[in-house]
Parts: sequence; C-alpha cells; structure tokens
Amino acid sequence: MNFKLGHSVNQQVSLTKEKGVELFVKREDKIHPFVSGNKYRKLKYNFFEAREKGFNTLLTFGGAFSNHIAAVASAGKLLGFKTIGVIRGNELEDKVFENETLSFAKQNGMQFKFVSREDYRNKTSEAFLSGLKKEFNEFYLIPEGGTNNLAIKGCEEILTEADKEFDYICCTVGTGGTISGLINCSKLSQQVLGFPALKGDFLQQDISKFVTNTNWSLINNYHFGGYAKINEELVTFINQFKKINNIPLDPVYTGKMMFGIFDLINKDYFKKDSKILAIHTGGLQGIKGMNSVLKNKNLSIIE
Ligand SMILES: *Cc1c(COP(=O)(O)O)cnc(C)c1O
Repeated sequence: MNFKLGHSVNQQVSLTKEKGVELFVKREDKIHPFVSGNKYRKLKYNFFEAREKGFNTLLTFGGAFSNHIAAVASAGKLLGFKTIGVIRGNELEDKVFENETLSFAKQNGMQFKFVSREDYRNKTSEAFLSGLKKEFNEFYLIPEGGTNNLAIKGCEEILTEADKEFDYICCTVGTGGTISGLINCSKLSQQVLGFPALKGDFLQQDISKFVTNTNWSLINNYHFGGYAKINEELVTFINQFKKINNIPLDPVYTGKMMFGIFDLINKDYFKKDSKILAIHTGGLQGIKGMNSVLKNKNLSIIE
C-alpha cells in the first residue's frame, strides 16, 4: 500500500538469566498508528484486489471496539476508498462520539450501519447480504476480522528469512487468519503457538482449513474469561511490561499473549536455551476505549 509505513523490528524483552530462554517481540505495531500490525498485513492484498476489480467502496463488519473497523476506515481514507462498517449492536447508533473507535472511524469517513446482535449473527446469509447490496450498491466485501485467503497471503509476509533462528513463534488469535499465515511461512522445525483471546473450540478447525503444516498448537489458558474481558492482574502486567521494556501491549490481544508467554516461561514450558519470537499484532488504538470502561468502573487504567 502506498502510504508511509514504519519498521517492524525484533526487540528483545528483558528476562533474568536463570529463565534459560530468550524472548523477542516483532514490533508489527510500528507499521502504522491505525492500520497497525496484522490489520495492515490482512488488508494489503484485499485493497489491491478491490482496486484491481474497480471497486471504490469497501464494506466490512465489526464490534464497536474493533481494531479491524479502525484499520479499514483509516486505510480506506488514505487510499481513496469509501468505507461502510456494519456494526454489531445498535446501542451506539445515536452516541457514536461516546466510543473512541467509532468516532475515529467516522472521522475517517466511514459510514455505519448498526444492526441488532441477532441480525449480526446472520450477517453472512444470502438474505442479509442481498439487503446490503440493495442499500449500498456495489462494494468489495471484507469479512469480519478481515480473514480470507488474501489476508492469509499478507500474513505469510510477517516472518523474514532472519526469523528462522527462532524455535518458537507466538501470536494471539482472534479469527485465526494471522496464525494461519504464520504457520504457512514457518519452518517445520519451528513451533507456532497461538494464544486465543476468546473462549471457544471452533478455532482449531478454522485454522486447519487454511494450513497444511502441523507444527502448531493453541494454548487456551490465557483468554481471561473471554473476548475483551480483562482483570486487574492483566492491567498490572501490561503496565509493568511497558515500564521495563518500553513496549506497549493492548488489553484484548497482545497483553494476554505476553502474560501467557511469561507464565509458560516461569513454568519451564519452553525447551532450555530456546529463542522465542512473539508477534506484536498491534491493536493499540483500543487502549483508550478500554480505559474509558475501566475509569467508569473505578479500576486502574492502562498507562
Ligand atoms: C484483530 C487482531 C488479532 C486477531 O487476528 P486474527 O487474524 O483474527 O486471529 C490479533 N491481535 C490484534 C492486535 C488484533 O487487532
């Protein structure tokens, strides 16, 4: 995509010697302030495809705090596409400016269609899609979370030749698109570990559809009760991690993964002397919105 991109570098995380492993973070969050991390990777070839096929409008789906919605709005504006966001739940319809992510998307020109949670569940049905076509005419459809074959192709570009020195590649999992790309471009001698940010056992199957390698597994113990659910322990961890390593983590995805990696290191899960690479998939735009929720509940915030 032809807008200014930052550099994704591998940054070492400070660990005490006796842990016996080394941990690095691939700073995909540095790629762009709003089209960050895996969202850039997932959108790249979809934007190419949309342009090649002559579309000037993109339509996609997401919740009110979605990094994907923010990324599509921002990239759409930068690249000259009209964008439409179909938003789960209609409670914010008249209060868009109370929500950080939606206000941001609106400022970037995204038009919204709010739908009830029930209708949202049927968003991939023929009936729902033909309703959208009637309402908005021609558009290029990007699925919820952006996961499709072109997204996975983009995520296959995350690992570089130099990354083959790592024994473990860790990443957080939402819909499974990012980890699928990582699995496809990993060496078979590497283990790819996914840390789901939500509860549910459909992910194993979803990922299996996109990959042939078997050098991967999901670690399901660090979702903190479900999608976007957090607690004081996680917030404290995120704040400490940033203070020590100068790497911000988001509370929905990367914070949970890193909490999990630290816990596994402490439990000697990883082979001795191994090198671990954790992918920072971005998502930092979500911190403001989460902090508003935390403040309302009088809880400590992410610094
Ligand atoms: C969307 C997102 C994910 C989830 O990626 P999937 O490809 O859906 O698994 C992970 N991390 C961050 C920061 C995200 O915004």
